Amino acid sequence: MLSLRSSTRLFCAKRLAYQRTVYSQASSDLKRVFSKIDDLKPRFIKRLKDAVAIPSVSSEPDRRNELFRMAQFIKSESEPLGVTLQQKELGLQDGVTTSKGEPIPLPPILQGTLKGSGSGKRILIYGHYDVQPANLEDGWSSDPFTLVEKPDGRLVGRGVTDDKGPVIAWINTIQAFKEAGVEIPVDLVFCIEGMEESGSEGLEDFIKQEKSKGFKGVDGICISDNYWVGIKQPVLTYGLRGVSYYSITISGPSEDLHSGLFGGTTYEPMIDLTHVLSRLVTPNGKILIPGIDEMVALLTPEESGLYDKITFTINDLKDALGNDTTIHETPKEALMSRWRYPALSIHGVEGAFSSPGAKTVIPAKVSGKFSIRTVPDIDLKKLDQLVFDHVEKSFASLNSKNKLKVELIHAGKWWVGDPNNWNFEAARKATETVWGVEPDMTREGGSIPIALTFEEELKKPVLLLPIGRGDDGAHSASEKLDTVNYIQGIKTMAAYLYYAGK
Ligand SMILES: [Zn+2]
Repeated sequence: MLSLRSSTRLFCAKRLAYQRTVYSQASSDLKRVFSKIDDLKPRFIKRLKDAVAIPSVSSEPDRRNELFRMAQFIKSESEPLGVTLQQKELGLQDGVTTSKGEPIPLPPILQGTLKGSGSGKRILIYGHYDVQPANLEDGWSSDPFTLVEKPDGRLVGRGVTDDKGPVIAWINTIQAFKEAGVEIPVDLVFCIEGMEESGSEGLEDFIKQEKSKGFKGVDGICISDNYWVGIKQPVLTYGLRGVSYYSITISGPSEDLHSGLFGGTTYEPMIDLTHVLSRLVTPNGKILIPGIDEMVALLTPEESGLYDKITFTINDLKDALGNDTTIHETPKEALMSRWRYPALSIHGVEGAFSSPGAKTVIPAKVSGKFSIRTVPDIDLKKLDQLVFDHVEKSFASLNSKNKLKVELIHAGKWWVGDPNNWNFEAARKATETVWGVEPDMTREGGSIPIALTFEEELKKPVLLLPIGRGDDGAHSASEKLDTVNYIQGIKTMAAYLYYAGK
């Protein structure tokens, strides 16, 4: 049996052979750009290496100057290519200080433009230059901030796929057009932020403020900040689930008690909480809160058909889970449950005993945390009310003398675009030209709230154009981007801009 890696290699070899014939369908302009991208490969890998070397971790206040260095790096790499980028300051970060107690500024948003040959189309490119934390002790095979080129083609380092790789890939795309002597047929507008991994603080207000200024006249938005579903098939993403996160706090006795002294004499918050939590969802994922299913958009035959074409097997899911704990038997059911139906997950209990050993405490106050991944057409305000009513009713039925508080901690709305609009059409053609296959049209179970903000504020279509694979391990140890995906991703971006302008 082939290992995953060697079968991937075989697959890549097949792909590369395939490309040569497909490229012949590209225009001569595009072929010149593609061959320039091949020529510049060492330069492009070096650029990514330099980007990875700056540990721009937005969640570590003591590294805030690294975010400013990273912003400066992007500016200095782009400006010789004719991109004017302005560093937009956002003020101080709310409630966060360095270890010395000093307030810290939010990382700047890089906003700018590049004039193309002018087909009239104006495309906004969004990306982020901050990364997740990474330490060698987390299980990295090498220093996370030193890009390593593995013999099998993997580029390993923090941020290679999320999201420095795609951001640098856009810069590379512009360089390739320029050096190939081909004009980019669209105008570009950039919005590159440095707080994505920490809740995109400041970005929403910035978009609202710029929609009538710097972002005026934008025709479409392209976001490259997600991944293929698997490792073989390129995808375009047209939907994301939202998330509404809740907490249920139950408080009882005035302080933690010993069960030997008080067990059997008092209503226990932890017992109440487990009863209430158990009434939220069944073990096979059915949400028990009445009224939610009724808000979910009905499946149309057209949408159902999109799932039939997707290259995904139940074994892919088992591989990702690490064993067979799947709820569903067919890949279609599994994908629909991940992308187009809501899901309720219970995440943890604050205040409960959770260490090894056998402590006989009765916790005085506990908070259960759960979230619901939301989908079209769930109304978030109505959802909150249904959740509150259901939890209060469940608790009331216990006849406990404890106190209940249920609240929403945060919410981000779902997004779904039209996979047949011009923005997706250009990306579909680009993918076919570069990879020689029609991309799968996919949705994602996770959330990128800013996709929806762009669409709602600018009232223009958003496209998600991922370049990395499903096994890249964004946010994990030994995050990687395959060299073939990096280089083909740059070509796909180039072809996308080309077709969007035609
Ligand atoms: Zn990201």
